[in-house]
Amino acid sequence: MSRTVLMLPGDGIGPEIVAEADKVLRKVNEQFGLGIEFDDALVGGAAIDESDTPLPQETLDKARRADAILLGAVGGPKWDALPMAKRPEKGLLGLRSNLELFANLRPAILYPQLASASSLKPEVVSGLDIMIVRELTGGIYFGQPRGVRQLESGERQGYNTYAYTESEIRRIGRVAFEAAQQRGKKLCSVDKANVLEVTVLWREIMNDLQREYPDVELSHMYVDNAAMQLVKAPKQFDVIVTGNMFGDILSDEAAMLTGSIGMLPSASLNSQKQGMYEPCHGSAPDIAGKGIANPLATILSAAMMLRYSLNEEKAAQAIETAVSKVLDQGLRTADIMAEGGRQVSTREMGDAVLAAL
Ligand code: NAD
Repeated sequence: MSRTVLMLPGDGIGPEIVAEADKVLRKVNEQFGLGIEFDDALVGGAAIDESDTPLPQETLDKARRADAILLGAVGGPKWDALPMAKRPEKGLLGLRSNLELFANLRPAILYPQLASASSLKPEVVSGLDIMIVRELTGGIYFGQPRGVRQLESGERQGYNTYAYTESEIRRIGRVAFEAAQQRGKKLCSVDKANVLEVTVLWREIMNDLQREYPDVELSHMYVDNAAMQLVKAPKQFDVIVTGNMFGDILSDEAAMLTGSIGMLPSASLNSQKQGMYEPCHGSAPDIAGKGIANPLATILSAAMMLRYSLNEEKAAQAIETAVSKVLDQGLRTADIMAEGGRQVSTREMGDAVLAAL
């Protein structure tokens, strides 16, 4: 059986970290006889430089044909002055909406070896294992109408629309309930139902869905409280489900609980389980080209890809075990460096994972 994985390195540290994940994927491909074929393409700023658009048609065509996509990151100061429609981020949003990647799965796991890297006390975070399920193709980031308009008073007004249809809420709800069933069977739905009508509907649909998943305990929390609880007592959560904007913010907050955003993978899936896999962090222009970026989030994204889109649980676990071994050996990139560790470069970290496989 042959499957295609499309590699989209993108910008900034993207090419450096994807190169390491590429090595690891090729090795397990061989070890486990996975029959993966690799392709690559340009997206984001790299695509703008080459063809004046962040998402060339060729890239979109390849993405549609692929079983899964591994993306580095897009964006950087070089393209910040471009009009909104031409910005690198549009390449990402275009891929998400064209492939209907509506479900974003972001685990926040604190590796015991890195407990001291968290800014919270070890007893508050050790053993942390949360899954945030974020709706990715709707909500205020996509709602119409949107723009900046001139009011009669002569003043300009910026505006966006926050809207969710019942079916959009239902399909993300199902992904979250199913994720909870496979984990600790607790789901917390985060909204702002005391202020926003769209999330009153969100809450109603989540309650309705709960009847189909009687083994899952459902709770609701306002987003402001959720932000607080995540730093106060994060271990109370198992799976969190929320809309696009709240999920964007809360998942970054949860990421920091684990000490480094450089450790966290993510998956974005559509209803056929085709997925785009990427680290939670951005293109880190401040460290691009220095060889110090942490490639582990991207390597762990490759493991998620094997699990969720390619159905290769054993190969996924092999990568995760190899990462854990490397941390046990005390190897650390600069972002997770702590006393007693040995600092390694991006490439050395990739090589160490390869050796541990
Ligand atoms: P960022 O995640 O790129 O960087 C935040 C901080 O974390 C920086 O100090 C950076 O050096 C550090 N960091 C990030 N990844 C790291 C890694 N793997 N190893 C070590 N350190 C790491 O966020 P930002 O600075 O807000 O954004 C930079 C650019 O990335 C912007 O153009 C932004 O639009 C873009 N961005 C892209 C994505 C994406 O492609 N999915 C996501 C977020 C931001």
